[in-house]
Amino acid sequence: MCGIVGYIGYEQAGPFLLDGLEKLEYRGYDSAGVCLNDGNALVVKKSKGKLKVLKDLTEDGRTLKGTVGIGHTRWATHGEPSDVNAHPHLSESGRFAVVHNGIIENYQQLKDYLTSKGIEFRSMTDTEVIAQLIEYYYKGDLIDTVIKVLEKLDGSYALGVISQENPDEIVAVRKESPLIIGLGEKENFIASDVTAILSKTRKIYRLENNEIAILNRDSVKIINTDKDEVKKEIETVNWDINAAEKGGYEHFMFKEIMEQPKAVSDTISPRIKNGRVVLDEIKLTKEQLQNFTKINILACGSAYHVGVVAKYIFEKMLRIPVEVDLASEFRYRDPIINDKVLTVVISQSGETADTKEAMKEAQRRGSHVISIVNVVGSAIAVESNDVIYTWAGPEIAVATTKAYSTQLAVIYLMALYFGDMLGTIVEDEYKALVAELEHLPERIEEILGHKEKVQYLASKYFNTKDVFFIGRNIDYALSLEGSLKLKEISYIHSEAYAAGELKHGTISLIEQGTPVIALATHEELIGKIISNIEEVKTRGAQVMCIACDNHPEIEKIGQTVFIPKSCDMLLPSLAVIPLQLFAYYVASLKGCDIDKPRNLAKSVTVE
Ligand code: GLU
Repeated sequence: MCGIVGYIGYEQAGPFLLDGLEKLEYRGYDSAGVCLNDGNALVVKKSKGKLKVLKDLTEDGRTLKGTVGIGHTRWATHGEPSDVNAHPHLSESGRFAVVHNGIIENYQQLKDYLTSKGIEFRSMTDTEVIAQLIEYYYKGDLIDTVIKVLEKLDGSYALGVISQENPDEIVAVRKESPLIIGLGEKENFIASDVTAILSKTRKIYRLENNEIAILNRDSVKIINTDKDEVKKEIETVNWDINAAEKGGYEHFMFKEIMEQPKAVSDTISPRIKNGRVVLDEIKLTKEQLQNFTKINILACGSAYHVGVVAKYIFEKMLRIPVEVDLASEFRYRDPIINDKVLTVVISQSGETADTKEAMKEAQRRGSHVISIVNVVGSAIAVESNDVIYTWAGPEIAVATTKAYSTQLAVIYLMALYFGDMLGTIVEDEYKALVAELEHLPERIEEILGHKEKVQYLASKYFNTKDVFFIGRNIDYALSLEGSLKLKEISYIHSEAYAAGELKHGTISLIEQGTPVIALATHEELIGKIISNIEEVKTRGAQVMCIACDNHPEIEKIGQTVFIPKSCDMLLPSLAVIPLQLFAYYVASLKGCDIDKPRNLAKSVTVE
C-alpha cells in the first residue's frame, strides 16, 4: 500500500534510496527504513515517524555502505507503526531482507507453522513471514526459493528481496500491488511508483502479476513462475514528477476513485473464508451480541453518511434498532446509552476529534465500542474496544472516496457476520449476499469503465447554482453523500432530500431547469421514486437518474447512468461511483482545487 524503492549499481545506494523514499512521501506513511548489503552483512536502518528521522540517522544516506539496497515507507496494516514493525524485515539469521507493499491474508497460518518449527518472529507484521519463509525454504537458489514462497502466499504484494550471500542481485515480484523496474546505465532500480526513480531514468518495465524481475548491475531479466523468460517492451515515461505522483491522473481524488476496486477487494477478501464472513478482530460472543437492545453509530461527514446506510442495513438484517448520530451532537445531548447499547464509530483517520470524544462519552456510559478506521494505531483504533480496519491505503484527497467505499464494505461484513451469529439471516440469502459481495470489486470496475457518460452529464450541469439529490430508503442515505461530495469540491449549493419529503416544503424551490439527481436503485420502491421524479419534472426540473440496468425504462424519464443490478444491500457501493465521478468532473470543469477544497482539512482534529 505504501512505498518501495531499490537500487543496484556501482554507486553507493544510500543517498538514492533516501531520495527515492522522499519522492514517495506524498503518499503518506508512518515509518520508513532501508537495508543495504555492505559486502559482509545486510544492514538495516529503520524508524517510526517521518523520513527526516531516518535521514538524520544516516546523514541523508551517506553513512550507509553498499551498492545494493532496498527501502520502504510503510502504511501499517498489520501491527502498529513502530521501529520494529517498519520494513525492511530480516529473516531470523539476518541473511535475507524483504520490503513489501500489500497484505498477506494467510500470514497467521504461515506464522503459526513457522513458529511451530522454532522460528522466532520479531515483529507483528504480516510481511515478516515472507522473510522467514525465504530462509526456511532456501537451498542455495534465491529465485527457486522466491517461487516456492509465492505459492504459499495469499493476498496482495509487491516485494523487493535481497540476500547476504548474493550482493549482485535484487529479486522483485508483484501480485495486485504495483511495482516497476527502472533501467539505467550500469544501474537498475525497483519502485512502487515511477516518482521514486524519475531523477535517474525514464525507461521502465511494468511488472504484471506473478512476473519476477531479477536485477543485476548491468542487466534485468524478467521470468514467470515457471522460470520462462518474459519478453517485455520498455516503456518511456514522459510524465513530470507532479503527474507521476498522481499515477498519471490529474488529481489524487481521481486516482483514489480509480483505486476503489482494489481497496474494496483488500478490505473484503481477507475476511471471507470458505464462503463465510469471519471477523477475527471482533471479540464479542453470541451471548454478548444477543444482549444488545440498540446499535448506536457515531461519525462525522461522509463517515456519518456510511452510518445512515448502515442503519437501513443493520435494522433489516439484524432486527436491532439503530440510531445514527453526528458525533459533534451526540456528546452534548445527554444521550441515553448504557451497556445494552453497542456503539459503532467510523473515522478514516482515527483521529477525528468529535468522533473520538463521542466515543469516550459512550464508553464512559458503559457501551462497547467497535471502530471502523483506516489508519492503524490511530487514537480511535487504539481506544475502542474492537477495531475493524478498512484497508483503503493512504487517502490524500480531502474529499473521501475510497475510504467511504471501504467503510461501506465493512458495514456489509458486519451485517453478515452478526446476522449469521444471531441467526437473523436465512442461509440462502446469506450465501447469495456473500457471493455478490465477492463480486463487488468487479462491478465497481465495470462502472468506472463507463465514466465518460458521467463526464458528459457533468458538462451539462457544471454551470448550475443549485442541485437537489433525491432518493428513498438506502438511496436517500446515498444521496446525502452525493450531495456532500458535490458541494465540498465544486462549491455548488446542493441538498439531499428523502424523495417522499420533497412535497412537504422543498418542492417549492424547484423551477424551470433546476437540476435534480434522482437515485432510483432500490427495487422495492422503484414505483414510488418514479412518481417523485415525475412530480419534480412537472415543475420544470431537469432530471438525471442513477438506476439499475434491469430498469431500462427509467431512461425515458431522465438521462440515466446505469449500474449493474445487485442485491439491494450492496447497491450503495455501486451507486456512489457515478456520484463521486459527477462531483469530480463538475469541479474539474469549474477549475476548482479538487484535492484541497477551500476551508477544509483532511483530518479534523479540532472540535
Ligand atoms: N502489510 C504490511 C505491513 O503492515 C505492509 C504495509 C504497506 O504496504 O506499507 O507491514
